[in-house]
Amino acid sequence: MLEDTIAAIATPLGEAGIGIIRISGPHALDIAGRIFKPKYNTNWASEPGFRMVYGQIINPKNKEVIDEVLVSKMIKPKSFTGEDVVEINCHGGILPLRKTLELVVSNGARLAEPGEFSKRAFLNGRLDLAQAESIIDVIRSQTEAGLKLSMGQLQGKLSKKINELQDHLLGMLAQIEANIDFPEDDIEEASIMEIHNKSREIIKEISRLIEGAESGRIYREGVQTLIVGRPNVGKSSLLNALLKEDRAIVTDIPGTTRDIIEEIVNIGGIPLKIIDTAGLRETEDIVEKIGVDRTKELINKVDLVLFVLDAADGYTQEDEKIFKEIQKKKIIVIVNKIDIKDNKIKEIESKFNKVIELSALLGEGLDILENKITDLVLGGKVNIKDEVLVTNMRHKQALEKAKHYTQEVIDAINKGVPPDLISIDVKNAWEALGEITGTSVGEDLIDRIFKDFCIGK
Ligand code: GDP
Repeated sequence: MLEDTIAAIATPLGEAGIGIIRISGPHALDIAGRIFKPKYNTNWASEPGFRMVYGQIINPKNKEVIDEVLVSKMIKPKSFTGEDVVEINCHGGILPLRKTLELVVSNGARLAEPGEFSKRAFLNGRLDLAQAESIIDVIRSQTEAGLKLSMGQLQGKLSKKINELQDHLLGMLAQIEANIDFPEDDIEEASIMEIHNKSREIIKEISRLIEGAESGRIYREGVQTLIVGRPNVGKSSLLNALLKEDRAIVTDIPGTTRDIIEEIVNIGGIPLKIIDTAGLRETEDIVEKIGVDRTKELINKVDLVLFVLDAADGYTQEDEKIFKEIQKKKIIVIVNKIDIKDNKIKEIESKFNKVIELSALLGEGLDILENKITDLVLGGKVNIKDEVLVTNMRHKQALEKAKHYTQEVIDAINKGVPPDLISIDVKNAWEALGEITGTSVGEDLIDRIFKDFCIGK
């Protein structure tokens, strides 16, 4: 299956200092040897590898010089994929990269599919599945906290935990099997109790991982957030204050923020994906109406709503109308423009018992809002410093399955079911955990996971 040699451009296409072509497979070294001419060391084939060699990429047919490059070879099995790998550092323009890749392909490689390098790393045992999946999370992390979690997973923190749980289950299995072979009553009684206790501990551990998964998801995927409020209450100003840069258009004319803008703001490590929209006000203005209808649609989709009120206006009928649309969501009520002296904050506070008072204009009160957001979305529970946090929903589902089967073990023991039947549930729990690290997954799932990756990774 892995007989062929694959190649791809591993860096984004565009103008850059360098761009890298990656080749992996049994012919990677021959192919590179045919098109690469080192400047000083003419015998590249006998190079020990793991260092960069300077030279040129030359078309062997017409001797055309394509680019000046640095080439490194990583000899199997000590490479990312576990196969022979060559990386060619070209100049970072579309043409040198494309022409070099064409040469690589015409000399015997084929174009790699998305994620195929990582898939090979997994199939060759260089990484387990949870580690391979974390690569894409490392690439896509939006905050430092998210990066830290993904790096922990890449380094095998989650896998270690899963392997430990699997080892406990294997220990239980051995104990059950010993019982089947030597079914003397008193031995059985003692060890059945031990299996019962171990199962309870495993369930406790798995439950802890499941509980952390919601926070893990939030760190990884972010929180879809909508800023709503009447025109002119300061929604765009608030978004800008959070972004600390003027990206959205701020104006005095009501209803001019017509396009829906999404921006990512880092709030205590959580990527807050804020959507800024036109107000929910009913209006004759057709252009604004489009924005308004889209807003209503968005309300259903988002995780969090920031409801902005204007301290100078107090709580108006229009505000009440908007509130009716959002009251079922997770809401933070914000009273903006508290810098205005003659205000009606009291009127608003009599309606809502908890509001965040701020001035988007002066940047006052933003820290309180940020704390409120982290409290609300994480429930104040998470400390990502020392915990293994499950960030992937596929892993969470596998954990739930493993928990279910382990619970079945306990139920079976309580009902006095014979040991050989209990062992089936133990095996099922072991397999469910193996779905996370990839010891028990089908080819379909593997294909699906790696298709999500980018080309060249
Ligand atoms: P939007 O229509 O809700 O997006 O409101 P904008 O952000 O466009 O703001 C409308 C007007 O209110 C602008 O003139 C802002 O400068 C002003 N504004 C926004 N926030 C504050 C604030 O905290 N204090 C004061 N005094 N004015 C503000």
